Amino acid sequence: MPEAIPACDVAVIGGGLSGLLCALYLARAGVRVSVLDADPMAFGPHASSASVASLGLVQLGTAEHPHRLAHALGLDRAKQYLSFSQRSIALLAQEVPMQRGGLRVGIGAEIGELEEAVTVSEALGVENSLWTQDQVSQSQGSVGLGPGRYVPMDGRLDPVQALAALAEKARAAGAHLWAGRRVQAVEVNDSITLRMEQGDTQCELLVYAASWGLPALDAWFSGKLYPVRAAVLQTEPAAHRRPSRSPLQGASAQYGYLSWQSTPVGGLRVSGARWATPHMETGETERRPNPKVQAALQGFLQKTFAQDAQGVVTASAGIQGYTCDNLPLVGPLPGGRRVACSGFADTGWSLAAAAAEIVTQGILGERPDYPDFLKPQRLVGI
Ligand SMILES: Cc1cc2nc3c(=O)[nH]c(=O)nc-3n(C[C@H](O)[C@H](O)[C@H](O)COP(=O)(O)OP(=O)(O)OC[C@H]3O[C@@H](n4cnc5c(N)ncnc54)[C@H](O)[C@@H]3O)c2cc1C
Repeated sequence: MPEAIPACDVAVIGGGLSGLLCALYLARAGVRVSVLDADPMAFGPHASSASVASLGLVQLGTAEHPHRLAHALGLDRAKQYLSFSQRSIALLAQEVPMQRGGLRVGIGAEIGELEEAVTVSEALGVENSLWTQDQVSQSQGSVGLGPGRYVPMDGRLDPVQALAALAEKARAAGAHLWAGRRVQAVEVNDSITLRMEQGDTQCELLVYAASWGLPALDAWFSGKLYPVRAAVLQTEPAAHRRPSRSPLQGASAQYGYLSWQSTPVGGLRVSGARWATPHMETGETERRPNPKVQAALQGFLQKTFAQDAQGVVTASAGIQGYTCDNLPLVGPLPGGRRVACSGFADTGWSLAAAAAEIVTQGILGERPDYPDFLKPQRLVGI
């Protein structure tokens, strides 16, 4: 008989990085919190979440350059967004091991935008500097990469190590983490009932941190949150990438559509190239890499990191949750009692900690002050 899950104050559905951060902050505030995750391997190094699959670049704002962010959101909102992200990175750095500094490399036409990116970045209050092609190549152990922008406020971490630290801290603070518990239905009455194959449980409030799994659970998310597959190629450890020889290397390029990072044991992980399929991998929920995307990543790996590509290269994929306007959903849903903390697309590591802080403050009855364009209400009517 599976263990029954006792009733709690707050249940968090989803135990990726956003759910664990919510659980950690809530438990520290004395709230009785349970995290329910469908995956039997949840909270461990072999979990199927996007959080485990991710590369671990912690990029201030988005992987896009800031002049593009400013064009999309306007200068004021871009500033608010960046300061939200800055707060988030600072919070995360208090909880998990993180190296500071990050590189956004230019490829092709993007190179011509780097100077504007540097200027707008400064106007937005984000320190950054131009790196020459040589500086970039030397820092990454690569060939053929263009110049780039160095952003000291960015960071890099090992996702498996970071998630283990979050799970351990959440448990130590009193949160209960339940793996292998898929929530099949949510019923909101006097209290909230969560239906699972192993039996029901009750809570007073619910945090939705289940990313692209949410539309199946709550009709409010239909048409607002959808899956997007991201592929990864991983090389076997190589002597020239051993941490003793070079620090953890990582960067993004092509407006964030390519990224890479070395692993703590000296392998290299390369991700992105969704543009190799006409639908940009939208709607894909199978964690099986698309051969076209894989071929594009393989080409990039061979051309740029030929030395790494000589050994065995393994392919995998993860599924990210995107919103229709590419901004996360943070805060109460219409009708109350259900709170969203999802939709982090490809920037969960740089946004989710501030989002979890806001969710916690809201649940504690405080009135958190944060950008309206992150609140779920912005999408009412869509
Ligand atoms: C290949 C790849 C590379 C990436 N690289 C980066 C990067 O370098 N930097 C960065 O910031 N971001 C990156 N991302 C994006 C990042 O991984 C996400 O933004 C982040 O992990 C989202 O975290 P989450 O907790 O919202 O979702 P997830 O980590 O996906 O967690 C959601 C959890 O919900 C659970 N769940 C779903 N449905 C249910 C249900 N019905 N009941 C119970 N549980 C349920 C799932 O099992 C899962 O564990 C990358 C993603 C991928 C796939």
